[in-house]
Amino acid sequence: MEPRSLSVPSPELAADSLGFFRWGRIAGRVLVTTDAGDWAYLSEAEFGDLLAARVTAGHPRFEEFQRMGLVRDGLDLDALATRIAQRNRHVARGPHVHVVTLSRRAAAAEASANAGDDLDVATAEAIVDLALQVTAPAITFELQAADGEPLRHFDVLRHLVETAVTRNARATGKDLRFRLISNCSAMTEATAEWLIGRDVLLTTTLDGPAYLHDATRRWLPGSPHADVVGWIDYFTRRYAELGRDPQQWHVDALCNVTRQTLGARRALLDEYVARGLRMLHLRPLAAARVDAETWRTIGYGLEEYLDFYRHALDDIVALNRRGVDLRESLATIILTKILTADDPGIVDLQSPYGAGTGQIAYDVDGQVYPCDEARAVAAAGDPLFALGQAQAVKIADLVQHPTVRAIATASLLDVQPMCAECWNKPYCGFSPVRSYIAQGDLFGQRPHCAECKEHLAISTRLFELLGDEQDPETVAVLTRWPSVRSPHATNGRAYRDAP
Ligand code: SF4
Repeated sequence: MEPRSLSVPSPELAADSLGFFRWGRIAGRVLVTTDAGDWAYLSEAEFGDLLAARVTAGHPRFEEFQRMGLVRDGLDLDALATRIAQRNRHVARGPHVHVVTLSRRAAAAEASANAGDDLDVATAEAIVDLALQVTAPAITFELQAADGEPLRHFDVLRHLVETAVTRNARATGKDLRFRLISNCSAMTEATAEWLIGRDVLLTTTLDGPAYLHDATRRWLPGSPHADVVGWIDYFTRRYAELGRDPQQWHVDALCNVTRQTLGARRALLDEYVARGLRMLHLRPLAAARVDAETWRTIGYGLEEYLDFYRHALDDIVALNRRGVDLRESLATIILTKILTADDPGIVDLQSPYGAGTGQIAYDVDGQVYPCDEARAVAAAGDPLFALGQAQAVKIADLVQHPTVRAIATASLLDVQPMCAECWNKPYCGFSPVRSYIAQGDLFGQRPHCAECKEHLAISTRLFELLGDEQDPETVAVLTRWPSVRSPHATNGRAYRDAP
């Protein structure tokens, strides 16, 4: 599948009669997409008729094409503008995801404290005050540690949550959510009960059965796998006892895909099904996130990952057909953009990318960054993306900061070479921070962009499945996936590498 086409497919082109759309070829047919997210499959003959302005009143697809804005005859410009505005309302919402790092201590050395490695109470309060300034009516605090376990800093975590709840009730009245990214290694029953009682959602990491999960955590004592699945079972049981809706109240798990995972797809899926997990967040390993020796041991090529992903997606769909409720996270986000009129609010898949406008990240010293990956860039020694101190800046300063503007400009797909003509543009997005890490500049080049290849491959597979008229059961499965909005899904895939 080509991301774009530079050639006009027919000598007959009635440009003045056409609306604006992009197109590509999938499974022997022409896929046409619009900025409002509408899409349609056309036969080659229908596409030729569309381009030559032969789709007029009386043509079997005239009304459909008119509604989509593919033809100018009778185009309802106001309705089209309303649909486009709805899909892009994230640009005016304000930062709604606030990623707070509680500690910088390396996981293998959590016991040894250095001054300044951990978030203190005063800085936590400054972060809360800054986050509550946003215009977004609902905000999520995502609580993490840079490398280790945030629950080892439970006192500050608890203070931050309680301060946010109290000050929000007194002053701002926003819909607050808290999500903890934890490997559960410091979880206790008392902590778990406090998290449940305070409605703090738990996102953990589960890389598969014990032999896979524990293989990359040999530095942790005992069996990290047994700990994690024990706590998943605990939260699941307590939510059920409290009568909470399992669609909203459940533990989510991230899955770091290593070379070992590629050959253990079935075992991975069996583990997720056995634990009753509803969402699989597959996270490809990036060479930039691990050292060279680790990469040599567990790394792999993008093509290998995409082949694994495609088979995993097909397997998950097959499980759904047998009644199992399990979805893949990125596919669900993209399907939401393909099948609904709304934007799911995932900053990774927005144009412009939501760093600084949808997400803000805070390091332990109160330094503010447009997203958590920008914080990680600074932690590695490059403070390029630093926006200021939480104690000193205002939200209005942040969203108008030159760095945030530069990120927005670089990630606007309408003006990016390749993206501007790509049929996948309405469902896509890329991170200029990741471009900076991988290619050395914010814009990057799409042919060298792993996200571009990944997004295009996933969208192509989804459209292949959605367009298969011989398999209505699979279409019905995929159509159900966007119907339940997971409360865990406000930060797309920009999670840290949870150990
Ligand atoms: S980044 Fe997305 S929109 Fe741009 S070329 Fe790649 S797949 Fe297409």
